[in-house]
Amino acid sequence: MRRACLEAQRPAGSAALVAVCKNQPAERILPLLAAGHRIFAENRVQEAAEKWPALREAYPDITLHLIGQLQTNKAKDAVRLFDVIESLDRPALADALAKEMQKQNRHLPCYIQVNTGEEPQKGGVLPKDLPALYAHCRDVAKITVAGLMCIPPAEDVAALHFALLAKLAQALSPESPLRLSMGMSADFEIAIRCGAHQVRIGTALFKIMQNNKN
Ligand SMILES: *Cc1c(COP(=O)(O)O)cnc(C)c1O
Repeated sequence: MRRACLEAQRPAGSAALVAVCKNQPAERILPLLAAGHRIFAENRVQEAAEKWPALREAYPDITLHLIGQLQTNKAKDAVRLFDVIESLDRPALADALAKEMQKQNRHLPCYIQVNTGEEPQKGGVLPKDLPALYAHCRDVAKITVAGLMCIPPAEDVAALHFALLAKLAQALSPESPLRLSMGMSADFEIAIRCGAHQVRIGTALFKIMQNNKN
């Protein structure tokens, strides 16, 4: 990541690492915590409920992101368990999250997930519906939209999707730039070149941790 930042003429450390822990047991996560890492992500509410309350007890300064599709009826648990929601993709979900945030007095920053590849099986709002959803979050639900998130189709040139996300963010909020959550193990260098503020990495990170151990 440092190298990718420097190659993109960005300050080293200008992209944050979100460690994606889905399918990783707590004993694999503990070495990252011991090394000082604090930003993590899960894609399922249930899995987060099983792993993170105990880890948080030991490390209260953790920030946990939800990066998977969220059903409206799980909004309550999501607001309780997570600190950032990255998969906000429809007005009904914005309303459910807003209601729970009020109730729990926990005001979580959210990212709107954009389905840049317009894939039917994937979560995310279609690019054409993004401005209306953004306006709904800001003006009706009164949710803090911190940025945009995307997961490019596996078979596509990722850079096109990252560039599109950056363009959409710029168009929505030209004055105060939205953050860009984009890039995974296979394409984080490209995402950093395209302006990612944070990358979400699982496979590559846990492979390095495993190699270091051996
Ligand atoms: C699993 C996942 C990642 C991490 O993917 P890796 O290829 O393991 O780095 C990032 N973002 C989302 C939304 C994911 O579900």
